[in-house]
Amino acid sequence: MEKNGDIIELQPDIFRIKGHGTSSHSYIIKGDYANLLIDSGVDINFPVLQKSLLKIGLKIKDIDIVVNTHEHFDHIGANRYFQDHALIAAHRFAATKITLDDRYVTLYKSADLNEIPLKVHLWLESKSRFDLGNYSLNIIHTPGHTSGSICIYEPVRKILFTGDTVFAGGTLSYIAESGSVGDYINSILSLGTRQILEIYPGHGEISRNPEEDMEKAVKNAKAFLKNEDDVEVEITRFKEDGMLPNP
Ligand SMILES: [Zn+2]
Repeated sequence: MEKNGDIIELQPDIFRIKGHGTSSHSYIIKGDYANLLIDSGVDINFPVLQKSLLKIGLKIKDIDIVVNTHEHFDHIGANRYFQDHALIAAHRFAATKITLDDRYVTLYKSADLNEIPLKVHLWLESKSRFDLGNYSLNIIHTPGHTSGSICIYEPVRKILFTGDTVFAGGTLSYIAESGSVGDYINSILSLGTRQILEIYPGHGEISRNPEEDMEKAVKNAKAFLKNEDDVEVEITRFKEDGMLPNP
């Protein structure tokens, strides 16, 4: 694993660019056929993203595909810098909110006065797949945190990109507008049927104990439904770098 400031090479040609402030992390997969970015982070973090991409030899125009793990502003905010040359992809339930500018759900607001509408070119479903040559990425619809949340599974390395669905330590993500705790439990249980060696979440640390962390997330969610006081139900609020509550 190579570290270069905010950039970690997690697997050959798979990088994490750390999110600052409220921003989600971004993950880059340098593919044989196409370069794919998972989550663009917040708008204001774009210069950091741009600089980090340059450090791994990529210009903004070199990104061919942007996949959003869900419709929250801290994952889609910098899409506008990519959408005129790259294919923007999101689950169809996220795509509806992003393209119809449903700010009640996306919480999106760029600082730009002449804000441009966000586009989604490819509406994903479970079993959609991106074949990048060296990696193939399978989309799994995992509603819960929001209705349009997806996880992205790479079956050879057995790694899972989870957005805000699973965090290291099994901390329960905030169940947002359009989300559901019942869906959340069901989604994590269905993820658990796959062999997963590492989880790369949208915020915080990498999970190297996926099974344990997913079990804990289900336990937390069930306790949350029952309003149990004796079980530690921690709703994710990332305060790293003085972050605001995580939407
Ligand atoms: Zn979110």
